[in-house]
Amino acid sequence: MTVSRRGVLMGATAAAIGGAGVVGVRGAGQATAQQAEAQQAGAEREPVEFTWWGNHAWQIRCGKSVVLTDPWLTRFHTGTYSAEGADPATRIVSKPAVIDRYVTTADAILVHHAHYDHLPDVPYIARKTKATVLGNETHLNLLRALRAPSDQLSQVTGGEYLPFEGFTVEVYKSLHSCGGKRHQFAYPGTRPGAVPPKPRTIADLVEGGTLAYVLTIGGLRILSLSTAGFDPGALRDLQVDVVLAAPGGEPGVTDRLLATLKPVKTVIATHWDDFDQPLDKPAVDWGGLTKLRASATAAGSEFVVVDHLKSVTF
Ligand SMILES: [Zn+2]
Repeated sequence: MTVSRRGVLMGATAAAIGGAGVVGVRGAGQATAQQAEAQQAGAEREPVEFTWWGNHAWQIRCGKSVVLTDPWLTRFHTGTYSAEGADPATRIVSKPAVIDRYVTTADAILVHHAHYDHLPDVPYIARKTKATVLGNETHLNLLRALRAPSDQLSQVTGGEYLPFEGFTVEVYKSLHSCGGKRHQFAYPGTRPGAVPPKPRTIADLVEGGTLAYVLTIGGLRILSLSTAGFDPGALRDLQVDVVLAAPGGEPGVTDRLLATLKPVKTVIATHWDDFDQPLDKPAVDWGGLTKLRASATAAGSEFVVVDHLKSVTF
């Protein structure tokens, strides 16, 4: 790890931008619901299509149901994966013309944390699609400050079981990844209470706490993690079919994740691309993919890498 001239821990920034987890103990009722859904999953599977828009931006579709995770497509230049690190004074922009090329409909938007590579396009996409937006108090306050439609925002904390038409969402408390000698991540902080001033720079978009989600759609159970960090207390023995897993974080974190969950059939790499590179070109690995693949393979999981704008169907 090196400290850039901007005082940002380099490897830590990259790892810190890329890593996820959970807190909270599942109650018996929730476990029962999960088991019932798992049984149902085996009986009634429908094709579920995952389309990757880079970073942790996924469109997950089954029939007419569409769920988006941290949909960020604008990709203004930040220098996050450069030797100098990201400039905290970088202005936030959201470009509808870019978003409109890819985003058509959505029923729900799952906000995992509030960093600049996750949140800035959510207000426009929410308004365009009329989707319900799930996030914690800080995520939603920052979205309100960015002029998101307030009546579509649903505040969650972890522990919720939310049935939608065509899918269900379970919310888990989580942790952002950290890294470096001092185990840091970029722009920590929260914005509880009153709506803060409108965020203008990437440093204004504090992490705000991290959530994880289990989306059950088409009979497939998908754990979505926006960074490599996770909380074993919350995910212990969780049963899912697919994990969206990010590289980076502390050494061995993905090995611990996969040992915490019940055996997972498929690991799909997420948040592995350098997002200063264009979305309409093949993704450029920022350097974490090899380790992620090794962890998935060692755990006996199928490892899947999807390129920019490509889809995979399960
Ligand atoms: Zn982050």
